[in-house]
Amino acid sequence: MSTGNEAEAILIVGAGLAGVSAAESVRRAGFDGRVILAGDEPDAPYDRPPLSKSVLRNPEALSNLELRDPGFYAENGIEVKLASTAELIDRSSRRVHFSDGTTVLYKKLVLTTGSTLRILPILPPGMPSVFYLRRLSDALALREALPQTRRMMIVGAGVIGLEVAATARALGIAVTVLEAAATPMARAMCPNLCDFILRQHTDHGVHIRTNTTIVNVHRFGAGYRVTLSDGDTVDTDAIVVGIGVVPNIGLAEAAGLAVSANGIHVDEFGQTSDENVYAAGEVAFHYNHRVGHMDRQENWLHAAAHGEHVGRTLVAGGSGYNEICGYWSDQFDFSIQSFGTPKGDRDVVRGTVESGSFTIFHLVGDVVKGVSSINAARDMRTGKALVRDGARIPEAVLSDPTIDLGKWRQSALTSPAE
Ligand SMILES: Cc1cc2nc3c(=O)[nH]c(=O)nc-3n(C[C@H](O)[C@H](O)[C@H](O)COP(=O)(O)OP(=O)(O)OC[C@H]3O[C@@H](n4cnc5c(N)ncnc54)[C@H](O)[C@@H]3O)c2cc1C
Repeated sequence: MSTGNEAEAILIVGAGLAGVSAAESVRRAGFDGRVILAGDEPDAPYDRPPLSKSVLRNPEALSNLELRDPGFYAENGIEVKLASTAELIDRSSRRVHFSDGTTVLYKKLVLTTGSTLRILPILPPGMPSVFYLRRLSDALALREALPQTRRMMIVGAGVIGLEVAATARALGIAVTVLEAAATPMARAMCPNLCDFILRQHTDHGVHIRTNTTIVNVHRFGAGYRVTLSDGDTVDTDAIVVGIGVVPNIGLAEAAGLAVSANGIHVDEFGQTSDENVYAAGEVAFHYNHRVGHMDRQENWLHAAAHGEHVGRTLVAGGSGYNEICGYWSDQFDFSIQSFGTPKGDRDVVRGTVESGSFTIFHLVGDVVKGVSSINAARDMRTGKALVRDGARIPEAVLSDPTIDLGKWRQSALTSPAE
């Protein structure tokens, strides 16, 4: 528990998933000095995935959002400092200055400042009936507008845009999705999955316009008249912009730490260019042993795992980060899961795409490097194990749903990948 000695404090800036995971793990690893978790949002640390799913549909979802029980922080001696923006890091005196006028002295500083939304200049946040989705307050504002919305335009067919599209359609709203690329979710998925998702949305009445961007927007009644790159105009009551995120590097950059557009540069232990400063989660451009190169991930599994790893190793040491990550998404009545590499040199389908329940193995060379699935939890479990093993299994076996992959996994373990 806390010694109260300020100079011995571990200060974590950014009270999202990576920050909470880091705070929990420094305690678990046996650190008994002060642990301070500081965040700029006013709410107790909460989970973001429900913001584009249950929170938009179900008011009860709000009661389940917090990342930890209210008693968790006091029980673990974690001081939580909310609504406090870290404005300046003075590395020479090891102090962080906050917007509320306070300063905190640290022994080790962990930056878990996450990402911020990429803004479409023609539709900046704050315009009436224009929504972005990152924070709880964003989700609540969008939810409040849904009952008055008959037509919605969504800019960006990524995970968040398509989850909002599915929810809006379920509420009977006419939805147009604009995507600059040739397919939806192209960045995160293999072509088979992109095609499946495009077809599902189209079948549910979502109008997805690929290779299309906005060239102009005019106020029109209570909504907007939008001119598209193909010359068409579309009238809409509300616009949701989901065009990705950029890492929150400003604080680190101003402190002279090594950063780039990829994030805050850290090694396999999350250590920055200053030995007393670490970074974890979505903001960290980190070294991952398993993939063998620098990487930045934007998913829940990574934020939890990396926060935990950095917190643990900065207190107790250990081996470098080597977690395999992935994501999930819920749209209409299907659940997408992906783990490891989301597309391979070859993508092998197990089951039939038409059935709406199938798995795709992503092979690099002859090694299973990733697995994705639609409504196929059981194969997904085995698939994750194959990815972790770096298994080599013949394509004919992977693609045959009558063959028990668990048994093949055992034999593959006798000849693991190099
Ligand atoms: C709507 C939505 C839906 C998602 N759905 C999924 C999903 O289905 N599956 C999946 O795998 N992933 C999903 N994700 C992604 C996942 O939630 C994120 O990858 C994860 O939350 C990142 O955690 P983090 O702690 O690294 O960053 P964040 O969650 O961004 O937390 C960083 C915190 O630091 C704060 N901060 C920033 N700068 C400062 C400062 N100077 N001082 C103090 N505080 C600061 C930020 O305000 C924020 O509270 C979703 C994300 C969103 C937004």
